[in-house]
Amino acid sequence: MDETIKRVIPNHFSLPRRINRLGQLAYNLWWTWNPEAQMLYRLISQRLWDQVNHNPVTFLKRVERSQLNAVTNDRHYLELYDRTFQKFDAYLQDTQTWFARHYPQFAGETIAYFSFEFGLHECLPVYAGGLGILAGDHLKEASDLGMPVVGVGFIYNQGYFVQRITEDGWQETSTYYLDYDEVPIIPLTDAQGQPVLISVELPGRLVHARLWQVQVGRVALYLLDTNLEQNQENDRQLTARLYSSDPEVRISQEILLGIGGVRALRRLGLQPKVWHMNEGHSAFLVLERARELVQSGLTFEQAAAQVRKGNVFTTHTPVPAGVDQFPLWLVDKYLSTLWPQLGLTREQLIALGHQTTPWGESFCMPVLALRLSDHANAVSELHGEVSRRMWNFLWPDRRADEVPITHVTNGVHTPSWLARRLRLLYERYLGPDWLEHLDEPELWDRIASIPDHELWAVRQHLKRKLALYVNERARQLWMRGNVHPSQVLASGVFLEPYSLTIGFARRFATYKRATLILRDYERLLRIITNPDMPVQIVFAGKAHPADEPGKLLIQQVYRAVKDPRAAGRLVFLEDYDMNLARLLVQGVDVWLNNPRRPNEASGTSGMKAALNGVLNFSVLDGWWREAYNGANGWAIGEDADPVDPTHQDELDALSLYDTLEKEIIPLYYQNRSTDNIPSGWIARIKESIRTLAPQFSTRRMLKEYLTEMYLPCLEAAEEEIPADTAVTLDQAN
Ligand SMILES: *Cc1c(COP(=O)(O)O)cnc(C)c1O
Repeated sequence: MDETIKRVIPNHFSLPRRINRLGQLAYNLWWTWNPEAQMLYRLISQRLWDQVNHNPVTFLKRVERSQLNAVTNDRHYLELYDRTFQKFDAYLQDTQTWFARHYPQFAGETIAYFSFEFGLHECLPVYAGGLGILAGDHLKEASDLGMPVVGVGFIYNQGYFVQRITEDGWQETSTYYLDYDEVPIIPLTDAQGQPVLISVELPGRLVHARLWQVQVGRVALYLLDTNLEQNQENDRQLTARLYSSDPEVRISQEILLGIGGVRALRRLGLQPKVWHMNEGHSAFLVLERARELVQSGLTFEQAAAQVRKGNVFTTHTPVPAGVDQFPLWLVDKYLSTLWPQLGLTREQLIALGHQTTPWGESFCMPVLALRLSDHANAVSELHGEVSRRMWNFLWPDRRADEVPITHVTNGVHTPSWLARRLRLLYERYLGPDWLEHLDEPELWDRIASIPDHELWAVRQHLKRKLALYVNERARQLWMRGNVHPSQVLASGVFLEPYSLTIGFARRFATYKRATLILRDYERLLRIITNPDMPVQIVFAGKAHPADEPGKLLIQQVYRAVKDPRAAGRLVFLEDYDMNLARLLVQGVDVWLNNPRRPNEASGTSGMKAALNGVLNFSVLDGWWREAYNGANGWAIGEDADPVDPTHQDELDALSLYDTLEKEIIPLYYQNRSTDNIPSGWIARIKESIRTLAPQFSTRRMLKEYLTEMYLPCLEAAEEEIPADTAVTLDQAN
């Protein structure tokens, strides 16, 4: 680590001395998974806290001095403040973390984790969906375990779009411009106080990027930013948005992430022995690492043999059409200065990522990553099978089941997604140190000891909270003006907490089949408007702005939502983000997921729901295929791959309606005890939490990555690099 680099936390605030550490806490996302730390802001002004979408930087800039003064005179507040900062300090100074206790020999190592997006919290909107949230959860868990991970990604200043739905259901988007002074990012500066810069070559020019740091507990995330005066205008926009559909922008971004990301870590004085690529977007890093070694005298073959030992690649894409790839002319245009530096010809370089597709020859990022990584994995058991078949062509002399792609099923970061009230309940019945043991299945046997009425009371509380929140959002929508009253109704004013509530919230990609439940619309209307056993369905999600079929699905849902015959029991909530996700996975009864199998590599929102006592009702795809045991939720359709998509939609829709009518609705409403508690339902909730919470946590996931991928990399690096090469390595940097 280069000690001359400074990380000075911006001080935008003038705070009373007694509580001035609130400014420092704002810049460590540790507060996002510690409810007491959030309370320190919330208690000053609940209204402002919600208004700024839980952004502590904006909050502290805007809060009234009198409100700050008020809490400095509040004994209970100050007690909470002192207790929380004790915990915070103890966390940061802990030398006995899980990793330190188990792997002291690797204490000084670095594990680099590259991702195109990181979803850490709604106040730092540099994510699009599940891939980013997984990356964010990965860093938080690494922090909790004390694993020496650093993240590398982009700060997108227009990364996020605000979604509005017009009266006839069309998605409109407006750009959200991120103000760097309003988000918890820390500038990196050199000894002269200048921004720390790295650069990469793009055709005919150098592009510079500065580095920002996001502190995630004990873990640092470094974000690249090309919005600098010394760059050309279009290069300044390179890190503006996620997933550009312009292939030239896209390849430039991936060069910046892969090659620039390696240079950033070198600039910081880091020498990782593990290089984890979350999807193929960062796969150019394998070439940059090989280039370093070739420049220090190795042949490309020697360099490749060495770098692959430290490379870990995680694939998330189960369909060939979805794979990240570039036409060859772009590779010629953008990488022609690179192949001589690697000691390769054009043909040799292209061969590293070459794939023949129905639409021509391409350079395929996952192929590059797979060819140059000793470790590769899919993100669920079923996705592992699919991936081995899909990439079998890279190992033509092997059978599909011998293809070296394993699986590490995704998980979620428990304290980030668990409702505070449930956390208190778990503390009481699982034990005060339950978070230390959360991946141990035996711990969760104690779920049985929670009295039904206590669990139900918390579930009811969370449902009321959701209904109140949705109502308040509807009021805000109405006040915004220019909306038809029917849009206000569509946004959930009739939602109430005592009816069975189903949630469906995710990106509106077509394979996720948001409209499957509308397929037999008359049958659906009969189900939801049954006066004795009504059902509410809450939809939320964005379509990629260039995805017309996705936007048509939103429109179809919205038209049903606005139909008076649906009686306000169908709801669409605009602008799905992590905040809304949290409220929904905590506040509904049933989490619906019906992708067209096997397109859902894993899925994680259902894991968040399960943790909170919400029951999954899902197609046997991704994680649910290995999670469902017949008693911890419900399955839609069979454990089989679709024959023909339309036929499959028909079968899945029938299965969905049947299970809803015959099992789910009766279990919720019937056989209630005298105090109106559905004990059969609660038994299922307990079975769901007991079986799913330990297994589908990032705790279990990170430990698997460590033992199956990271440790072999660390050990290989120790064993195999001869001393003289190690010297060369240092000199090369
Ligand atoms: C968890 C999460 C996702 C991923 O959801 P899936 O249903 O698993 O695709 C996407 N977006 C947000 C905001 C999330 O919190």
